[in-house]
Amino acid sequence: MGSLLAPLSQEGIKVVFEYQHLEQRVRQLTLKICGSFCRSCHDRCCNKDYCSESLESYWLRMTWGSWGHHISEYDISEGWLSPGGCQLEVGRPPVCYEFLCRKILTEIQEKNYLAGFKGISNLVSFAGRNALGNRHLITLSPEQILKRINFERLRRKIGQAHSILNRCEAALVSFCG
Ligand code: SF4
Ligand code: SF4
Repeated sequence: MGSLLAPLSQEGIKVVFEYQHLEQRVRQLTLKICGSFCRSCHDRCCNKDYCSESLESYWLRMTWGSWGHHISEYDISEGWLSPGGCQLEVGRPPVCYEFLCRKILTEIQEKNYLAGFKGISNLVSFAGRNALGNRHLITLSPEQILKRINFERLRRKIGQAHSILNRCEAALVSFCG
């Protein structure tokens, strides 16, 4: 873990931790809302082409690697997918949270909290948007992340995402119940 984050400044390391915390919160909330569908799904939307983004992206590699995931968990044909679901707790490509299948969209439409859930599913992507000019964080090279990124600005963006989550979380959880 230490060696992966070693090239970063102390501020950069804190930002990685805050991003991991945000993703954890979004993942856990998504699991509460979608878990019952995904666990019994026979036609999973996961695709190793999405999984492979987490290997190509320097930011995502730092995110899952410093969390304790290891490349040995990655399968050449299945990506991060195992019989129990995605093995990555953090460092998933943001699209993995953004995609909402028809079955889930229909179900939550009926329960009337679709707008709130769509907002939550976009938060990981939102946090990294325009991290350098109009480039998303997950597309940046090591040199761009280590030398050019404004971590203070990125931290504020992640903070905004946490605030949105704080406002929506309780209401969404009560809908799920
Ligand atoms: S999001 Fe929909 S398609 Fe994807 S695994 Fe869950 S239930 Fe299946
Ligand atoms: S959720 Fe996990 S297994 Fe599914 S596409 Fe994303 S990284 Fe791959």
